[in-house]
Amino acid sequence: MALLQISEPGQSQAPHQRRLAVGIDLGTTNSLVASVISGSASVLKDANDQWSIPSVVHYSDKHASVIGNAAQEKAADDPFNTIRSAKRLMGKGADDVRESWLAEHYQFNYDGGSIPAFKTAAGEKTAIDVSAAILSELRLTAEQTLGGDLVGAVITVPAYFDDAQRQATKDAAALSGIHVLRLLNEPTAAAVAYGLDSGTDGVVAIYDLGGGTFDISLLKMQRGVFEVLATAGNTALGGDDFDNAVADWIQAQAGVSQLPDQGARRQLLRLARSVKETLSSAMLAPYELKLNADITFKGELSVQQFNDIIEPMFKKTLAPCRQVIRDAGIAKTDVQAVVMVGGSTRVPLVRERVSQFFDQTVLTDIDPDQVVAIGAAIQADVLAGNKPDSELLLLDVIPLSLGLETMGGLVEKIIPRNTTIPIARAQEFTTYKDGQTAMALHVVQGERELVSDCRSLANFELRDIPARTAGACRIQVLFQVDADGLLMVSALEKESGVLASIDVKPSYGLSDGEIEQMLKASIEHASEDVRKRALAEQKVEGSRVIEAIGSALAADGDQHLTADERSDVDALIENLKQSLEQDSSDAIKQAIEKLEAGSSAFVERRMNASVKQLMAGQELEELERSLVSADDLSDS
Ligand code: ADP
Ligand code: MG
Repeated sequence: MALLQISEPGQSQAPHQRRLAVGIDLGTTNSLVASVISGSASVLKDANDQWSIPSVVHYSDKHASVIGNAAQEKAADDPFNTIRSAKRLMGKGADDVRESWLAEHYQFNYDGGSIPAFKTAAGEKTAIDVSAAILSELRLTAEQTLGGDLVGAVITVPAYFDDAQRQATKDAAALSGIHVLRLLNEPTAAAVAYGLDSGTDGVVAIYDLGGGTFDISLLKMQRGVFEVLATAGNTALGGDDFDNAVADWIQAQAGVSQLPDQGARRQLLRLARSVKETLSSAMLAPYELKLNADITFKGELSVQQFNDIIEPMFKKTLAPCRQVIRDAGIAKTDVQAVVMVGGSTRVPLVRERVSQFFDQTVLTDIDPDQVVAIGAAIQADVLAGNKPDSELLLLDVIPLSLGLETMGGLVEKIIPRNTTIPIARAQEFTTYKDGQTAMALHVVQGERELVSDCRSLANFELRDIPARTAGACRIQVLFQVDADGLLMVSALEKESGVLASIDVKPSYGLSDGEIEQMLKASIEHASEDVRKRALAEQKVEGSRVIEAIGSALAADGDQHLTADERSDVDALIENLKQSLEQDSSDAIKQAIEKLEAGSSAFVERRMNASVKQLMAGQELEELERSLVSADDLSDS
């Protein structure tokens, strides 16, 4: 090992020689900042000696807003002005907010701008404002601890965050005066923290259950390169839901049908949360609920009862786990390690059941609350140019397919979900009518076949197309997604060279009125019949599987399968096709599972044959790109 060098007093390394960069875990519940100091990453403590602050901001008309623990303390007395869980609303439109539980807790202005704002004593505040306040606080902690200005930060986001949510995070950073070196998926950061890049090659699962979001990701490591193979999750599931369920349970035990006000609910939630957290290390949690000045209800909750309460919520995390395994085209037994991330993975039931699911003991060595920030700090150090010879490359994927509306309200997917970014893909379209001189382009995001079932991202028009017969013009539409997951779409008519393009950056009333429209018309809502939806999704999934396996068979089925094996697979496809005609999502699901099981040998043989070559090509390209961007950074 090389000797560490110490400079003469007063002659220590000038700040510019080491560029100060941090990793920030901007959580729904808690946020923290970490940095690499003397070669190792650690979480930075604030002036109160805390390494994590609640993601809470309290607004008042009298003094400046307060952030973190000081804000949390105001929650019971001044609930409407104490904003928490704002991350859940990042990048969301008015309808999403109305349907979220936050709508019951806060007062919103839904029609002021493109995004709803919390009404507070200090005026209207969007989720971006709230996040910016939290980021400013973390920036302060970092600059005080590190003793200089930051060159930038790597900020983590759930892997499932869509375009609008990522952009909202960047906007918040800009408001807080932080230069974003990169948005990084939280699970990828966790894997970096564990140093899995220097471990053996293989697939790792990251199970992240925080306060407000659940993410499951499969990462593949190969020769020190991370690739996110697949991600899934639920942006509205986490420890908050455990708290709500426990609070309801306590309220029922105490025989209280109606709470007097929001403040009382807040108090109850705090109680529920501490009961829950106690049960991570005890078998029984006694509690006291103050009903009024004279009466206090005393009760207790056992681990067994608690487990029963949260079981249905825990189970919701398993469907996405199965989904990523399917998406990645691997078997569960291929998963070599399972990393636990997020405060809610301290719950013993969660650890146990996830271990059961993956059939191995899950990893909990690094503090599940710190692991994301630590990984982000390591990546920030690399991106700031402090490690010129680092080989750490991170490849992310887009979480939802991106496509265009075509005739009949159908979606043509241009970039399928789980494609590695950055990426550019082009596709040609043509005119529908004779003499057509304009074309409406509608960019959507989602897995469904119908535009009405997907999320609308943007609309724009290509004009001045030369008038020709239908089908004579060639319009090339290009989708580009940058390293942060942000999309740019352009359309080019090849003969005349007319071009139109749009940045898909929903910017929430910061400027574009046009983009407001897009958000309003956006997400489909849960009011829809749940059964119908499950059926529709299962049908789409069934068709997708048939399509995928069918095209694989057409491409090289003969190469990898004997005639007998082939006819078995064909029979399973036929079986799935028949199940698609019936209205039972369970039947379709079973048929999908059978087909997947029956064709797994085929899939594996194909993968073995082709993936290696593909990977090798991609990595080279990535390496070149990253070298270029490292140069750019050190110039800036
Ligand atoms: P986020 O990523 O959403 O900010 P965190 O990873 O910080 O969330 O996790 C916060 C959640 O973890 C909260 O719901 C909190 O109650 C829960 N939590 C923290 N410690 C424990 C514990 N000991 N037992 C159970 N849950 C815990
Ligand atoms: Mg988290």
